[in-house]
Amino acid sequence: MDPLMLDGNAVAGLLQEVFAVEMTTAIATCGACGAADAVGATHVFRGAGIVMRCPRCANALVTIVKDDTRMWIGFAGVRIVEVTV
Ligand SMILES: [Zn+2]
Repeated sequence: MDPLMLDGNAVAGLLQEVFAVEMTTAIATCGACGAADAVGATHVFRGAGIVMRCPRCANALVTIVKDDTRMWIGFAGVRIVEVTV
């Protein structure tokens, strides 16, 4: 395992700022391999921003960049996100 990698639970607070539902238990379906896993199980890498990768194939599911007043979230690698309402 990469020593710089965290799991998706590491960004729970950040996701809670944007989404009105609990996101770590949401199920994200990977756009590359089709695996469906909890967001909390994704592999999180922090650098200039955050990259959340599929735990099965390492596809970049979500990218997040934040400054003091704005946040940019890309879901380019996600096919579907299933949330409990
Ligand atoms: Zn995948």
